[in-house]
Formats: sequence, structure tokens, C-alpha cells
Amino acid sequence: MNTLWKEFLEKGKVENCPVYDMHGHMGSFSRIYFPYGDFDPEITKNRLDRAGIKMLVFCSHWALFSPDIGNKANIDVVRKLPERLRAYCGLNPNYPEIIEKDVDEFEKYTDVFVGFKLLADYHRKPISHESYASAWKYADKHGLIVLLHTWGWSQFDGPEQVRIVAEKYPGAKILLGHSCHGEWDKTIQLMKDFPNVYAELCAVVDDRGGLEQIIEAVGSNQIVFGTDWPWFNHHYYIGAVLDSGISDQDAHNIFHRNAEKLLSSLI
Ligand SMILES: [Zn+2]
Repeated sequence: MNTLWKEFLEKGKVENCPVYDMHGHMGSFSRIYFPYGDFDPEITKNRLDRAGIKMLVFCSHWALFSPDIGNKANIDVVRKLPERLRAYCGLNPNYPEIIEKDVDEFEKYTDVFVGFKLLADYHRKPISHESYASAWKYADKHGLIVLLHTWGWSQFDGPEQVRIVAEKYPGAKILLGHSCHGEWDKTIQLMKDFPNVYAELCAVVDDRGGLEQIIEAVGSNQIVFGTDWPWFNHHYYIGAVLDSGISDQDAHNIFHRNAEKLLSSLI
């Protein structure tokens, strides 16, 4: 058993193992109630402190689903708690003119954004669709992070689609949100073929064996931690990762070292 497991269990957090949550959200969502979905600097900070979350990188639901509000929802929130938060600029391919505007203005918000977020399964346009092209080119050129929602067998953001963009945009740091859930073999192949492709663990550990399989095949240098917060609780996910029996070294890579490297030039 790793020693971090014990310390997390006893204290709820571990000082020398800070956690970077690289996949979060913010704001309300239809047909579900989130006790901590609405941003409040004090309450949000408190929730992050509880689980030793050093930084949460998120994309507001409103930026993804409410084009009338758009990425303003991200900008306003990060600027109220900049020491703990960064955001992904959300892209909705059904509003390509907003994408163009957001890419054009990206430079103004380098204190807020570390990259882009695509949610292709929900927006029903594949991640290689031309509507996203300007953002992909910008991320490629500037070494930005692109967090994808990815799911096994999806025609919009499954492994075949990831392969197209990873080949085309080698300068972008691509986080596979949910790691092409279920198609772990293909996730592993993508990580082997593309050093800029990272597995992200939200929803991965709901299916025992996936994380272990990835670590055994490619090690832990291309894996980051994420929770879809406020959809899921931080302690639940931290516990599920630690309880898979990984080593302390792997846990340090997953919880903070890899994220620190990814973010080093961006924050
Ligand atoms: Zn998400």
C-alpha cells in the first residue's frame, strides 16, 4: 500500500502532495442541483482547501451551453480567485463566430485561460470539425492545453477523432477528458504515439482496471487528475485513484507533477 493513501485518509489532504484538478466546471446545469456549483470566493476556496486542491482548472457550464453569456462566466470567476483558479476558454462549434472572436481576443485573458475546452459529444460536431480550426491552430502555435471530452466509440470525440487532431496539432497539449472511456487500449496507443497526449482520470476510476492498465503500459508521466467538479466530490476521486494501489511516485505524477509541468509556462 502506498503511504499517501494512509495520510490522505487520516488528514483529508497531504501537504507535500498538492492536487491539481485539471477538469472542473462551474455554474448551474439543467435538471441537477449542485450544492457547490455556484461560485463564491469564500465557499469555493474552502472546498478546495478541504481536499488540498492547489489549483482547479475549469470551464463554466455557461461558457459551454449559454452563448449569450459565453466565456465571460470564466473570466469573471477566475479574476475573483486567481491564486487558485484558471479556466479553459469554452468552444461551442454551433456558434463559430463566437469562437473566432474568443480566439482573436485570447491574448487579453492570459491571466485567465490556459487553453480551450471542447465538448463535442454534447455539441454534436467532431473535434476535427472546421469550426474549431482557428482555436486548434492557436493552441498549436502557443503550446496551450486543450481539454477534450472523450469517450470510447464516439464519432465526435472517440480515439479515431483524437488521432486526427493529435497528428495535425503537435504543439497543443491535449488532455483526453475521461481518457476515451472504455477503449483503454486505444487510449494507450494514442499516448504512445503522441507525447503531447495525456490521459485525464475523471470517470476513469469508476471502472476498475483502466488506470492500472494505462500505468502498466505507459507509466504515469502522461496522466493528469480531474474530477468534473462540482459533479463529483474531490475526496471520492482522490480516494479512488489512491485505492487502485498505485505507487507514491505515480500518485505524485498524477496529482501534481505532470500538471505543474503542463502549466509552468501558462500561469
Ligand atoms: Zn467535464
